[in-house]
Amino acid sequence: MHQLTLAEIARGLAAKEFSSVELTRALLARIHQLDPQLNAFISVTEDLALQQAQAADARRAAGENGALLGAPIAHKDLFCTQGVRTSCGSKILDNFVAPYNATVVEKLANAGAVSLGKLNMDEFAMGSANESSHYGPVKNPWDLERVPGGSSGGSAAAVAARLLPAATGTDTGGSIRQPAALTNLTGLKPTYGRVSRWGMIAYASSLDQGGPLARTAEDCALMLQAMAGFDPKDSTSVDQPLDDYLGELNKPLDGLRIGLPKEYFGAGLDPRIAEIVMASVEELKKLGASVKEISLPNMKHAIPAYYVIAPAEASSNLSRFDGVRFGYRCANPENLEDLYKRSRAEGFGEEVKRRIMVGTYALSAGYYDAYYLQAQKIRRLIKNDFMAAFAEVDVILGPTTPSPAWKLGEKNNDPVAQYLEDIYTITANLAGLPGLSMPAGFADGLPVGVQLLAPYFQEARLLNVAHRYQQATDWHTRAPAGF
Ligand code: GLN
Repeated sequence: MHQLTLAEIARGLAAKEFSSVELTRALLARIHQLDPQLNAFISVTEDLALQQAQAADARRAAGENGALLGAPIAHKDLFCTQGVRTSCGSKILDNFVAPYNATVVEKLANAGAVSLGKLNMDEFAMGSANESSHYGPVKNPWDLERVPGGSSGGSAAAVAARLLPAATGTDTGGSIRQPAALTNLTGLKPTYGRVSRWGMIAYASSLDQGGPLARTAEDCALMLQAMAGFDPKDSTSVDQPLDDYLGELNKPLDGLRIGLPKEYFGAGLDPRIAEIVMASVEELKKLGASVKEISLPNMKHAIPAYYVIAPAEASSNLSRFDGVRFGYRCANPENLEDLYKRSRAEGFGEEVKRRIMVGTYALSAGYYDAYYLQAQKIRRLIKNDFMAAFAEVDVILGPTTPSPAWKLGEKNNDPVAQYLEDIYTITANLAGLPGLSMPAGFADGLPVGVQLLAPYFQEARLLNVAHRYQQATDWHTRAPAGF
């Protein structure tokens, strides 16, 4: 049963081939058997999952038949889950039990999805390798000595290893698309404002966006349909009706105009990846698309701008973790100041401290104009580049990552080398655009992803292109040996 996609599970449950309780039990057994190799889960909520599965089976017996009713999923551990530990991958929240559900959690629960637990991640979603987690690194099921990408590395590893069909993730600079690429999954970062951030622990509020990781575009469509929508509790949520993501999957691609940004194919890109990306373009041409070279001239400023904006917002967001209101508190504080200082010094990991220091510096009096304000201006230039490109093309295509999965520990001592891994993904966050990564081939046995970007709120278009591509290819169906 673990090989089934969400769409297949929906059909199986509707046809009464199996119950949600049977499926949930089977996957929980698989998690207990295989997760010790991967470390994808921080918490497995077995009892809660079985209760939810029973409730879903009862709802079906009473005549309900939603696509996700009884389907097992799990959440990245930065979505607040009522009554369940929500750690954000950090020691400082190791003992934090959320008093309420994030909107995304609530929406999926209402749709009848069964949550199997909480997934490992980089601490506060800062990272590209899932090595900054307080709960230890996650292993890539394609090669247990390699990273699964990050920060949604637990989500990616669990879905790729067939421990569950789909999971939630968040993407501030690539954290859904990059781990999807490194583990042979389809991952979608929606338009900023499409999915509510309420109850998502904030990293960089103007960039963060929740979305699904699954094996197929069809499954991402099923997940997005349930996750997305206006939420009055999130002031940046956009009040615009949802498209019929499933309904538009099969639209023909005739006349689709694909833009290839010349900046995406320059130095730094692994030639094996360049070749795979071009092969995916040929495939899409066979399906009716045409191709045009475009330019995104300000892309070269994206990483510096991102690594000012994201740490600046993080330094502000993370000031709430003070040892008083949430989570970890140091032992025997001498006075209030000592309590703040030591709780934070002992509770936060190295990468988080690095970002807080960079961000606090960038925001300090006298430096704000030179750094944060300047970075915001670059952000507008990047957005303008995209607007000019989308006047000529419908989607933009390129690699998701410059290289396939690297060895655990390989880039640990070089934060800048890791920051460079985000080169193709962060522009979408800076501009607020939707982006998707889909499996497109292998480089020496390691998965390679292709990224598609579209204009605001055109998630349906991204899912449509990826689905048609997946109907014509079988890369997304390949499973890692041993899983
Ligand atoms: N790797 C990027 C960072 O460390 C992006 C992480 C993310 O999208 N959450 O900030």
